[in-house]
Amino acid sequence: MGKLLIVGTVAFDEIETPFGKTDKILGGAATFIGLAASQFEIDSAIVSIVGDDLPQEYLDLLRNKNIDLSGVEIVKGGKTFYWKGKYGNDLNSRDTLATELNTLADFNPVVPDNFKDADVVMLGNLHPNTQMSVIEQMKATPKLIVLDTMNFWMDNALEELKQVIQHVDVITINDEEARQLTDEYSLVKAAEEIQKMGPKFVVIKKGEHGALLFHNEKVFFAPALPLEEVFDPTGAGDTFAGGFSDYLAAIDTISFANMKNAVIHGSNLASFCVERFGTKRMQDLKREEVNQRLHQFKTLTQFDIELK
Ligand code: AMP
Repeated sequence: MGKLLIVGTVAFDEIETPFGKTDKILGGAATFIGLAASQFEIDSAIVSIVGDDLPQEYLDLLRNKNIDLSGVEIVKGGKTFYWKGKYGNDLNSRDTLATELNTLADFNPVVPDNFKDADVVMLGNLHPNTQMSVIEQMKATPKLIVLDTMNFWMDNALEELKQVIQHVDVITINDEEARQLTDEYSLVKAAEEIQKMGPKFVVIKKGEHGALLFHNEKVFFAPALPLEEVFDPTGAGDTFAGGFSDYLAAIDTISFANMKNAVIHGSNLASFCVERFGTKRMQDLKREEVNQRLHQFKTLTQFDIELK
């Protein structure tokens, strides 16, 4: 069975969308990636840090999904990372109203011994130095290292981010962030520039407009599934990155063809994530539902055209 190591936040999120708002609920990049992982036949572990203010039931929820939490440090008297966001009417724009790093400010990740040989390392959105430290602790070179990041780290730790980018195979990033990182408006040019920085594969997430995969001259596009119900996009990017890396951890060969399927798996899982607030939809998502929607994806993208 493939092994996946996830590093990222396990967090308190407070979310406001045009459809309502929440109190502090379970969130965090590693949480969403982990919940996506539970849809695949892989062994997964999370490396993170929280305070003892995080309800035990949140940790139990992840543990019950067979996620190894021995790498999650619980700081006595510490406060868990907290993020507050508000979405505009079209759900595509989001303002971060608060980011409190709390225990995350002094996070020294420790990779559990039994995951130092993980096949795939999924570096969730975190300080680039933390991401780098995880790479350095690996005993064997992983089959694949995937990095997710966001504008917050481009604004606050750009040099460190460029350093860690040199060491990863895949980067998942949204369109605006790709433009910010490269100063290129064209996403094709931005992807070219990012490949020069290190990653052989670049995935650009475009929210409800799908995702693009770039590798040398090759490009692949996966749409997002048009949905009847969209409540809260929080975690969709992480769920996408999760589905993508989880699928690759579950199979043997890394190729462009398999990466294309990975993008589809990521898009498919992200389509569920947005249907409820926070992690709600992902918590008891059934494999049958996932498979059924994969069929919809296939139908959505298939056409028969005669080429001369
Ligand atoms: P996404 O909607 O996929 O971009 O991710 C949303 C998740 O990212 C939320 O659950 C937040 O807890 C988490 N998050 C927000 N800001 C940061 C940050 N600066 N570093 C790490 N995680 C963050």
